[in-house]
Amino acid sequence: MKKYQTPNLVVSKCIEFESCRYNGLIIASPLIKKLKDYVNFIPVCPEVEIGLGIPRDPIRLVEIDGEINLIQPSKDLNLTQSMEEFSSSFLSSLTDIDGFILKNKSPSCGVKAVRVYPHPENSRPKTDGIGLFANSVFNEFPYTPVEDEGRLRNLQIREDFLTAIYTLSDFRNMKKSQKVSELIDFHSQNKFLLMAYNQNIMREMGKILGEQKNYSNDDLFSKYNNMLGKTLKKPPEIPSNINVLLHVFGYVSDKLNNEEKAFFLDSLEKYRHGIMPLLVCLNLLKSWIIRFEQDYLTHQTFFQPYPPELMPVTTIER
Ligand code: SF4
Repeated sequence: MKKYQTPNLVVSKCIEFESCRYNGLIIASPLIKKLKDYVNFIPVCPEVEIGLGIPRDPIRLVEIDGEINLIQPSKDLNLTQSMEEFSSSFLSSLTDIDGFILKNKSPSCGVKAVRVYPHPENSRPKTDGIGLFANSVFNEFPYTPVEDEGRLRNLQIREDFLTAIYTLSDFRNMKKSQKVSELIDFHSQNKFLLMAYNQNIMREMGKILGEQKNYSNDDLFSKYNNMLGKTLKKPPEIPSNINVLLHVFGYVSDKLNNEEKAFFLDSLEKYRHGIMPLLVCLNLLKSWIIRFEQDYLTHQTFFQPYPPELMPVTTIER
């Protein structure tokens, strides 16, 4: 049974942790509530950290001379510098972070589609901004998964996020040993997962492991780490998942009867057309891997990249 390492996640404090929103409210999130038992959360409220009270007058992003500013119109306050200074000092103090879950649409924490006003006063906003704190997160942690709690209500986005944070957490714990043999084991166990994400980078990662003698341990682990983060940034699409499923199917297909083979291929077509979840195809393969004692495949993270206890999270109500 695989032992999953506990990911460290920074989270917007107003989601399930504290009533620190501008209006004194807290955001309910069944996902964050559930995850509290499975991840180490580091809650932060950037607006409270820069000295704004609870409740407080609303703040907004305003474009001034082509630059994005954080403004509190009622007090005629420009909070841009305070927020940038806080973000920089907070983010540089963090170590061993596997991901961020931030509040959507916030002028501080929003990761996309945040309103940007052309004037501090009432005016029609554009909706293509990024919160000031979130923007610093993207700059400081280019290879770390960042999601907002709104997008995480989507089943697929949630599964991809859980996969990325548990894979990174696993890597982070493994690399403490600085043993190349453990890095090779990690690569081997994640082979099909990485293949689904990006076959080309997966091969490059294998190549640098093959050329390990050319690197110091530090260089090898850090190069691999960056490639892993880059790979996990872009979740797999249906055709590459199908490619991996067929690849694995090749290990067991000669032991199956014609009806079983036809049933699997039919399920694959349904997955291709979005009328069957990936999980069904994965479980079919998993049952054959167990039946035919395919040890190498049993340990592939592709089949269960995060703790099975979190599976119910994927069906949480919005
Ligand atoms: S969105 Fe961010 S800044 Fe706003 S209340 Fe929540 S944690 Fe604080």
